[in-house]
Amino acid sequence: MTRRFVFRCLLALAPSTVVAQAQPVPQTNAKPGWQWTMDTVNKVVNAVRAGRSLQPKAWPNGARVAVLLSFDVDNETVALRYGEPTVGSLSQAQYGARVGLQRIVDLLDAHKIPATFFIPSVSLDLTPAMAGVIKKSGRHEIGVHGWIHEMNSTLPDSIERRLLKKAISELTAATGVRPTGYRAPSWNFSPNTLSILRDLGFRYESSLMADDRPYELNQNGKPTGLVEIPVEWTLDDAPLFDPRGDRYSPPRDVAQVWIDEFDRAYKEGTMLVLTMHPHISGHRSRIVALELLIAHIESKAPGKVWWATHGEAAEYVRKQNGLGEPIVP
Ligand SMILES: [Zn+2]
Repeated sequence: MTRRFVFRCLLALAPSTVVAQAQPVPQTNAKPGWQWTMDTVNKVVNAVRAGRSLQPKAWPNGARVAVLLSFDVDNETVALRYGEPTVGSLSQAQYGARVGLQRIVDLLDAHKIPATFFIPSVSLDLTPAMAGVIKKSGRHEIGVHGWIHEMNSTLPDSIERRLLKKAISELTAATGVRPTGYRAPSWNFSPNTLSILRDLGFRYESSLMADDRPYELNQNGKPTGLVEIPVEWTLDDAPLFDPRGDRYSPPRDVAQVWIDEFDRAYKEGTMLVLTMHPHISGHRSRIVALELLIAHIESKAPGKVWWATHGEAAEYVRKQNGLGEPIVP
């Protein structure tokens, strides 16, 4: 408990503030949910929703659990996307390209662990050498993470679509491989995102949170043939490793959260999907969290873990569940 939190609690107990006070009502133009009909509720909820589970009966090679590591290689794009970067924030982010990425790839390659790197196109354009670092082992996958980490959920269809097309063609040109997977920069969708992903031929998506297991995405109540590899904020290094916030978590504590997630995934035979960032987890004291997780997994479950890229896992569960190809809308 922080000192500030204790102070707030004491304030809350002071006699003058005991009387319940009406909270200000947020003013928006939205019609509140209690004025909706069930038709409207269903329409909104079903626009993009988890469909059938794609949990396979078994993982490859007798593995009991799948572990999928991903790295969102944002670097300077997070500072650039709103158009008001500062020199300090750009330098903090450049650490990911100069130091963090190599440290992470070295760790993965030492353990022969594959991973998926979701890269905003501008990030790769600023530091093209990153493609070689990632591709060297031949084990890793590169996926789309917007053009400049734009807040896709706030953009009109035409702009979101144009940026995504640009990102695909630039990543394809830089790496020689057309990406098959998408992770939304905002971990959120606009009303058009799913249609755009389907139009552009993506095979899997990894930004939503409705399950621990892979599932099919449904659009307006109908199957899409698109595989969702779900994420979660507790399985993301960014919120817990913010050194300027009240809630900075020691990396060894974060490792314990991830270890507990792995242990339960192992027990249930499902999968662990972890999101990290080179400019965050690539720091000397923070890479300890990933090192501890890998050490735990390797000692607890030797030979019982399927380490895979997101793309490999998506194709495996697609095949195992007879999902067929993504359905052209
Ligand atoms: Zn990102």
